[in-house]
Amino acid sequence: MRRYRCTKIVATLGPASSTEASIRALFEAGVDVFRFNFSHGSHADHQARFDIVRRLEAEAGRPISVMADLQGPKLRVGTFPDGPIKLAAGGRFRLELKQAPGTAERATLPHPEIFAALEPGTDLLLDDGKVRLRVVKCGKDFADTEVITGGPLSDRKGVNVPNAVLPLSALTDKDRTDLRFALDMGADWIALSFVQRPEDVAEARRLIAGRAAVLVKLEKPAAIDQLEPIVEIADAVMVARGDLGVELPPERVPPLQKRIVRTCRAMGKPVIVATQMLDSMVAAPAPTRAEASDVATAVYDSADAVMLSAETASGQYPVEAVAMMNKIITNVESDSYYLAHAHAEHPAPEGTVSDAITLAAREVAESIRARCIITYTTSGSTTIRASRERPKVPILCITSSLATARRLAMAWGVHAVHMPEEQRFSAVVQRATEIAKREEYGSSGDKVVITAGVPMGTPGSTNVLRVERIP
Ligand code: PGA
Ligand code: MN
Repeated sequence: MRRYRCTKIVATLGPASSTEASIRALFEAGVDVFRFNFSHGSHADHQARFDIVRRLEAEAGRPISVMADLQGPKLRVGTFPDGPIKLAAGGRFRLELKQAPGTAERATLPHPEIFAALEPGTDLLLDDGKVRLRVVKCGKDFADTEVITGGPLSDRKGVNVPNAVLPLSALTDKDRTDLRFALDMGADWIALSFVQRPEDVAEARRLIAGRAAVLVKLEKPAAIDQLEPIVEIADAVMVARGDLGVELPPERVPPLQKRIVRTCRAMGKPVIVATQMLDSMVAAPAPTRAEASDVATAVYDSADAVMLSAETASGQYPVEAVAMMNKIITNVESDSYYLAHAHAEHPAPEGTVSDAITLAAREVAESIRARCIITYTTSGSTTIRASRERPKVPILCITSSLATARRLAMAWGVHAVHMPEEQRFSAVVQRATEIAKREEYGSSGDKVVITAGVPMGTPGSTNVLRVERIP
């Protein structure tokens, strides 16, 4: 089952998309990667949705990727037993480590690490940035603040501290429990929230130990300060514009989005643009024109994937939102301006055999008008390099690793097919051309370009380029 676009669609599952019928409808409308948001729902909820996704995958005969998105060290205030309070600009408000009922004068902030990082003048943002407090005086278990931007405050609202690197572990106890569960369940990608430093990713990698690929969500200014080293140790990246746009003023998000996408493209890491893409479709059957344009911009910039959050998890029009994204992507990708730009910019290859073959594969495929580039791979690394080339022809990945096939659902322009391991290159060539025909990547007589590593079965050893005709 083939899709006729290169940019992938990630959709978040939730209460609005939990039945077999609704998940199937999302997949048929175009979802390539399902995101499981561990900030919400029980393990039983996630397992039930996961089982449905795997059943659908078997039915469709197309690898589907599952991303488990860990909540991360999301900070929250305590509760207000007498109901929401109202903070007025210019007033005072106290935050304390001490557990006590929240009132109009004080709230509990149960995170000692925050107090350790605060200084007079530090700003705290509450409830997605709606309320801003500035520290006047602080100690190891309290902070007296001035209300800079007032507003209501209620139970367990989120707290962001944009301009401090907090001495927080990247994974909370809840994250560790959720991570074990997600790996046992069989998630293909683990997404890390609120990453601040490369060491955060390294720590998670040690725990994940190759059982899933690692996606880093960029939503902290501290992470942007170390963008390259963080992208380097990630397998993929998400521009998490929700929290990023709380931690930074909104006008700084668009240039950053472009910089992150460019950096990932240059470094050969798949990148997702996420959050509020079709936000008004949470409650309306059509997006605003500005939202359609936002999705289109991410596609024009050559992101690997665009993402839906509340639109599919809790909105009223989940299937319509995916269908709309599919239409926007398809329209952009058939625009000559897109083709000229996406395909014209080729980041310099690294001096590896694999990159040299990959570059040659694109050039050969384009000059002989081959129908596709077929990459035979174990780890998927050559396929990701081929995707980085943004060739004019689609990439058909053939792999004996089902895990690799599923992970690659995230990558631009890649359609992955799982097949049993072959020992001989001639057998791979024969199977590859058969699969190309079966998957509608060409008809009898059409040319295809095949890359592989000979002898077979050594990961990361691509060294052969072959032109074949489909029998
Ligand atoms: P979230 O992450 O939806 O888990 O908060 C995405 C974002 O912050 O944009
Ligand atoms: Mn976030």
